Amino acid sequence: MKIKRVDIIGFKSFHDKVSLDFQQCITGIVGPNGCGKSNVVDAIRWVMGEQSAKNLRGKQMEDIIFGGSESRKPLGMAEVSLVFSTEDGRVPAKYLTYSEIQVTRRLYRDGESEYLLNKSQCRLLDIAELFMDTGVGARAYSIIEQGKIGMILHSKPEERRVLIEEAAGVTKFKARKQVALKK
Ligand code: ATP
Ligand code: MG
Repeated sequence: MKIKRVDIIGFKSFHDKVSLDFQQCITGIVGPNGCGKSNVVDAIRWVMGEQSAKNLRGKQMEDIIFGGSESRKPLGMAEVSLVFSTEDGRVPAKYLTYSEIQVTRRLYRDGESEYLLNKSQCRLLDIAELFMDTGVGARAYSIIEQGKIGMILHSKPEERRVLIEEAAGVTKFKARKQVALKK
């Protein structure tokens, strides 16, 4: 799965809608300190289902909604969409007929939130399943943030195993086994 585009509106420092196109090759985001580079990565992590405000460098989840600036009032909603191409075929079978997959997450100031898959409402579980074993996802290894390499090197063998299982593609089966055992 390859990210084609990210649409951000009302997320952290992004008041107006911003669309970032990711080309075939490497995409670099450059700019002065505080211009919002890391906020783009936070937005990607958030739309993929991140549940921890701390991992998004905030205190509470509401902190991800544009909180106002000198010239602009705070907004009431944040929305991020990620568009993936399915050309490499590394997607669950039910999505193979789509040329692209769009995942959207919205959060309102009253705490209400929504997830959408190709513009239809879905559960967080559906998003998690879509990303399982692809290496993409809020906690997977596709996002290597500051300190992550050190964390992996210093982690316990059982913690490291989680990453290896994700890379090997067995996470999905383990999750299904857990559900089956509960039934
Ligand atoms: P550096 O080069 O220092 O790493 P950066 O480009 O990664 O900087 P970010 O951390 O992405 O910068 O952006 C920080 C900016 O985002 C700060 O100016 C901060 O005020 C702003 N910001 C964060 N959350 C919000 C919010 N909820 N509403 C408005 N602005 C926000
Ligand atoms: Mg930064």
